[in-house]
Amino acid sequence: MPPSHPFDDDKLKEECGVYGVIGVTDAANFVALGLHALQHRGQEAGGIVSYHPEHGFNSARRFGYVRDNFTKASLMETLPGSLSIGHVRYSTAGSKAAAIRDVQPFFGEFSMGGAAIAHNGNITNAAALRRELIERGSIFQSSSDSECIIHLMARSLQRNIPERMQDALRRVEGAFSVVAMTRTKLIGVRDPMGVRPLVLGKVGDGWVLSSETCALDIIGAEFIREIEPGEMVVITENGGVESQFPFRKQASKFCIFEHVYFSRPDSILGGRSVYETRENIGRELAKESPVEADLVCPVPDSGTPAAIGFSLESGIPYAMGIIRNQYMGRTFIEPTEQIRNMGVRLKLNVNRALIEGKRVILVDDSVVRGTTSRKIKEMILDAGAKEVHFRIASPPTAWPCFYGVDTPNREKLLAATMSEEEMRQHLEVDSLKFISLDGLYRAVGEAQGRDAKCPQYCDACFSGEYPVAPSDMIEKGFVLKAAE
Ligand code: SF4
Repeated sequence: MPPSHPFDDDKLKEECGVYGVIGVTDAANFVALGLHALQHRGQEAGGIVSYHPEHGFNSARRFGYVRDNFTKASLMETLPGSLSIGHVRYSTAGSKAAAIRDVQPFFGEFSMGGAAIAHNGNITNAAALRRELIERGSIFQSSSDSECIIHLMARSLQRNIPERMQDALRRVEGAFSVVAMTRTKLIGVRDPMGVRPLVLGKVGDGWVLSSETCALDIIGAEFIREIEPGEMVVITENGGVESQFPFRKQASKFCIFEHVYFSRPDSILGGRSVYETRENIGRELAKESPVEADLVCPVPDSGTPAAIGFSLESGIPYAMGIIRNQYMGRTFIEPTEQIRNMGVRLKLNVNRALIEGKRVILVDDSVVRGTTSRKIKEMILDAGAKEVHFRIASPPTAWPCFYGVDTPNREKLLAATMSEEEMRQHLEVDSLKFISLDGLYRAVGEAQGRDAKCPQYCDACFSGEYPVAPSDMIEKGFVLKAAE
């Protein structure tokens, strides 16, 4: 598996991407391409399952990048059939010490045939479910929360697999976008709040389910629509798409951080281009927190669209003041504090000729621990900048995510322990401003801003208002904002 880069330690990490194809020859090849396009959602490991009437279910699970594993003809030949699903993962739930048994898709053999599932999200009552299932005789193979779904399906008395999945998922709390397959069906489900994304596409006579639209583009599939919160679609080999809403209806709570950072800028979310939304965030930031300066520079790559928006709104010239070494790759270096600092220099370099003598606005997507921001500021000052102003395209990240994003413990989040001014002093910059929650909501298309009574999105990592109580974590001692 690729070790994590020290630079990445200061970013929140999406943990999974899911993908499935039905009705095309050698579907696993399409799945491999789709997973490659979803690699930003998880780089630790990937897996593919396929079904062929003569060869049955086959699977391959590997550590590392999709391109390093699922491009080999010798491996792809072992995954025949016109029905296939896949998963890329970065672990949060499940063991941190990676084990191949934790790599999805998971497979279960039921009396009515086999089924494989791939899950994006996090089950917030997984520990309680696992305890109950083990007491009742289930034998778990992995440490992943997602495996609960297979065991709950095994215990269901329903006669077909989609209904067993519904039974299982009704017991599950938290966030799930699931892509599953039987011998003849491709199934997609989103949790009733629709926290994580899932879209439907069409390729030739076949159908595709994907975490993001960018992974439809790579195989030339047409984007049809998003799977609705609480919806299950069951797609058959003959091309029929059946839609059901098996869960109790709830207010939609899509993850607002998908717009800020997780999703690829060339994806479409909620009918809006992610790139455009990020540019809007930059415009809002410029309106909310203007500052006199000579240059607007993004912290590459994720700060780029917001920096362009900031520049367009403020009229301050945009420049690539920091250059990312595209070929750095991931290092083998142990992420000690000392090397973590050096890691930023390995990956980013300051364009000295542009920066020298200038007042620079640096636009980044988020501040998590603050270690990277400090190092970047030092690099900019070393290059001769007169002033450094940070503008952040998300509100202060003060709370951990329990819905499928890896976040440090609360005490490691800079914004959990410091005010904005204290953070500015800690980072030793001339000014530091975050976009407001209302500003972020306006940028994603909510003209009136955030509805405080019923927020239109999940924004718990900023607001501390969790749409579903993280019951496992509360049991372990996590204190909700209301109880502080
Ligand atoms: S807590 Fe934050 S990262 Fe997690 S789902 Fe909610 S908005 Fe997204």
